Amino acid sequence: MNSYDALFKQARLQLDSLSKLSSLKEDPLEVMLEKNHLDRRDFIKWAASITAMLALPGHFTPLVADAVKLADRLPLVWLHLAECTGCSESLIRTDSPTIDSLIFDYVSLEYHETLMAASGWQAEENLENAIKNYAGRYILLIEGGVPTAMNGQYLTIGAQARTGVDLLHHAAASAAAIFSIGTCASFGGIQAAAPNPTGAKGVDKVISKPVINVPGCPPNAKNIVGTLVYFILFGTLPAIDVYSRPKWAYGNRIHDNCERRGHFDAGEFVETFGDGGAKEGWCLYKQGCKGPYTFNNCSVERFNQHTNWPIGAGHGCMGCSEPNFWDTMGPLEKPIDSHLLMGLNATADKIGTTLLTATAIGIGAHAVASLFAKSNDRNNEEEQS
Ligand code: SF4
Ligand code: SF4
Repeated sequence: MNSYDALFKQARLQLDSLSKLSSLKEDPLEVMLEKNHLDRRDFIKWAASITAMLALPGHFTPLVADAVKLADRLPLVWLHLAECTGCSESLIRTDSPTIDSLIFDYVSLEYHETLMAASGWQAEENLENAIKNYAGRYILLIEGGVPTAMNGQYLTIGAQARTGVDLLHHAAASAAAIFSIGTCASFGGIQAAAPNPTGAKGVDKVISKPVINVPGCPPNAKNIVGTLVYFILFGTLPAIDVYSRPKWAYGNRIHDNCERRGHFDAGEFVETFGDGGAKEGWCLYKQGCKGPYTFNNCSVERFNQHTNWPIGAGHGCMGCSEPNFWDTMGPLEKPIDSHLLMGLNATADKIGTTLLTATAIGIGAHAVASLFAKSNDRNNEEEQS
């Protein structure tokens, strides 16, 4: 039996045992899709794309489809800590609902401060009931960093003014799995930027249970849904990298799958926004693109129903899925070490060549030579004029 056969068997067993649980929703998935003018063909196409994104072979597609149909067996508790709600917004704010966003209507979202109708004491009661009734079964999703200074007093929630730290410990204790949604929950976020007065931290630095980080500011809805589908499908957490990010989503550098990569290798860079190179779609490295240091699947999965992504739209990657990007990746529109190594007055050419030779970002020798050549050509032209 090869490893995919074993995985297939594991998924089938997991789905069979899930199917024995009763549904927590009134309508099956098919009815919800129909209400949103989506048919079975759309759904299977979507399931095939999720299968490919999870790096599973095509014959897993029916299993992925079954896993999504069984998502109604899954209670979800979503806590908001120190954050802007942008991750929730990115998931639910679409002019026409995608299957990605519809999944969150289909799962049993027991507690979500932005979406639930209840408020005050009733909302707190809902949370307590979910934790008690679904102990050991619910998935806990956290959006936002955890302020830990002053015993967590920088963040209090609800009528009883419980601290975010306290709520997190309470909800995490009985969770079947814990996902940190977004860079704030994963690594502390912008509120953890130096000097970090609130002592904001990522969830996995506060609790001792395993946590899957799904960073991004915001994360792609596909990465949130994919993490959920993976857990339903296998009942386990996926393979992770050193920052606890699922490898299927964060295993490759933005730079390695970027459509402008050929221009990087050829030494063709946008020198200023709006110049001829920008119009030709040349590389944005000199305009501060952090794609060479950033691991995420934006270049493949894209945003807004796969229509575009930041680099496609003409701005460099900001490194939003990396820990401490708020302190280490700025200024956002300058190459990374401009202010640290060379001083702010250093030219982009010097910075570019210094970085290209000093860091292992995978550029071919011919590209370095090409960059030097272009830089020298330009300097000669400037001297002659
Ligand atoms: S530096 Fe940025 S724009 Fe250039 S190839 Fe790499 S990821 Fe793409
Ligand atoms: S392209 Fe870079 S900054 Fe933009 S969402 Fe992806 S990882 Fe974040």
